[in-house]
Amino acid sequence: MTTESSARTFMERCDILGSFSEEPDRLTRRFATPAMRQANETVAGWMRAAGMSVRQDPIGNLIGRYEADSTDAMNRGLTINRGPTTMLLGSHLDSVRDAGKYDGPLGVLTALACVERLHERQERLPFAIEVFGFADEEGMRYHSAYLGSKVVAGTFDPNALQLTDSDGIAMAEAIRAFGGDPAAIPGARRRNDDLLGYCEVHIEQGPVLESLNLPVGVVSTITGQNRISVSFVGEAGHAGTVPMSMRHDALCAAAEFVLAVETLARNQPGLVATVGQITAQPGASNVIPGVVTLSLDVRHQDDAMREQACRRLEEQARQICMARQVSLKWQHLQESRTVPCATHLTQLLAQAVEMLKYPVQALPSGAGHDGVALSDLTSVAMLFVRCRGGVSHNPAESVTMEDVAVAIEVLEQFLMLLAKEQGES
Ligand SMILES: [Zn+2]
Repeated sequence: MTTESSARTFMERCDILGSFSEEPDRLTRRFATPAMRQANETVAGWMRAAGMSVRQDPIGNLIGRYEADSTDAMNRGLTINRGPTTMLLGSHLDSVRDAGKYDGPLGVLTALACVERLHERQERLPFAIEVFGFADEEGMRYHSAYLGSKVVAGTFDPNALQLTDSDGIAMAEAIRAFGGDPAAIPGARRRNDDLLGYCEVHIEQGPVLESLNLPVGVVSTITGQNRISVSFVGEAGHAGTVPMSMRHDALCAAAEFVLAVETLARNQPGLVATVGQITAQPGASNVIPGVVTLSLDVRHQDDAMREQACRRLEEQARQICMARQVSLKWQHLQESRTVPCATHLTQLLAQAVEMLKYPVQALPSGAGHDGVALSDLTSVAMLFVRCRGGVSHNPAESVTMEDVAVAIEVLEQFLMLLAKEQGES
């Protein structure tokens, strides 16, 4: 199988997965939905055909395993002691609403392509390969990200099982309907004593590789982030009768704060901060806004800088509130630290890129990925693939077949380098 034909198959498979949607006219594939079941069943079929044993874990992650070379392991006495080591690959199979076809499937299907090529050559490596299709990374259905990879890492919070979706369906119920078992989730934690690490291929979701005219880049870190809910509580009143000097307008306070967020982030290198959602209550044209709630997303590669920025923004919000006699509710919803990619695996990826005669471009990931959750379990490495215009979470998301071919070759070469190392150890 040439890399070109692997890449062509990849593109066809992305089109097939792209048709598994909850909505007829756009791609929406949330956690534990019939569309997700179609995706899991279809990828499972491709995995079996590639010589893998396939199972679905209690939360609905799809896992295909390609066994190691047993003679090799036996020669090294590994089967007696602890069995062969294992390298994890993959990404997620869920999507956002009105998604593109490549965010997630790229990592699952490039890994599958590598295993397929090994299987076709009847080749086994000194370690087993497990390809994961994580059940939930985007957190669309329950507003809680990395559900799938957290189960594997053993950091899943059982309280999340009580969360309900927009139709009032509790997560535990959704998992059961999907064929999973909420009670078995703690036991689904992956042991890590046999793991070599986790490597994920993902679209860049940014414009850097395109601007450098490079097909792939090696991820250095996954940027840490805070998600904060900020509420300004003033006083609602009649738009015609309350004098301007006597108002406690929550939306005016929020507006000042939104601009303060932008100013701080613009003046601090590496900091990005975004207010992406805002609601004003009671929300009528002739009523002074009484309560305004907004979302705040703060990211920086340096955890200390990120934490400091959050403190400064909270302080600024308090000052704005004091001046306007409005009160403040500052609620931390989610925090993830910056995850540095593992030096050794990242070096092997870089070496693989060099072997294919491309310059090695290191770049941080501004977006979160399954690797964040898996970093609690094992070493993590990531390869980014150029996407047109840096566009993601959008049906216009696009990768070229040529770039996919490079990604498959890099991942394959990475596995070979790892195999060489394991063979020598
Ligand atoms: Zn993704």
